[in-house]
Amino acid sequence: MSYYCPVCECEVEAFKPGGHSKRAGVKCPVCKSNARSRLAWLFFSRMTDLLDGRPKTMLHIAPEYALARRLPQVPHLDYLTADLDPHKAMVKMDITAIAYPDGSFDSIVCSHVLEHVPDDRRAMRELARVLKPSGWVLFMIPMKLEKTVEDPSITDPAERDRLFGHPEHVRRYGRDFVGRLTESGFAVRQLAVADLATVEEAQRMGLGQGADGGLFGNAVFHCTRH
Ligand SMILES: [Zn+2]
Repeated sequence: MSYYCPVCECEVEAFKPGGHSKRAGVKCPVCKSNARSRLAWLFFSRMTDLLDGRPKTMLHIAPEYALARRLPQVPHLDYLTADLDPHKAMVKMDITAIAYPDGSFDSIVCSHVLEHVPDDRRAMRELARVLKPSGWVLFMIPMKLEKTVEDPSITDPAERDRLFGHPEHVRRYGRDFVGRLTESGFAVRQLAVADLATVEEAQRMGLGQGADGGLFGNAVFHCTRH
């Protein structure tokens, strides 16, 4: 069986090991996309009008390598990447205090960022503020619990790794994440792989789907302003 990467539109023999755990079948050998980036691309192409060629703006927080190389090729997309670390993006940005006016962006991508941000509710409100009323945000987070676990007094990287799943995570999200988004001004729809691809496509595109149809704890949310 051959595999297909929707980000670079290449047929590939296999996806290579990737991520922290070097799990098999993750990284595209051509564009280095991982499963999350391929899911994001399917979301852009199948659930939004991002690729229709009309002028739009996008803010991409803590940009993933493959997407940050693919998105600038989208016709008439005014694309801005931002990160707390100015070496990792076009502009330095603290997403709890965004130096852009209300309604600046048609689309925002914020994937595996909020679990690193101490005041995540303030970040959500800021992202809602700079989103155009007709715009959308793609949020992705690691989510494995019913209820969010967080404790700001825990700063030791080893303890954070043990409790939150990564030395730099400040919490482990649960299903109540949706409530935080709603309170921050978003209408939320959680997406499953089945919303973006058929079972055959999910396998062929290496979307990282588990036997239960889940995404190994990667939760995907399509948000608009309410
Ligand atoms: Zn690729």
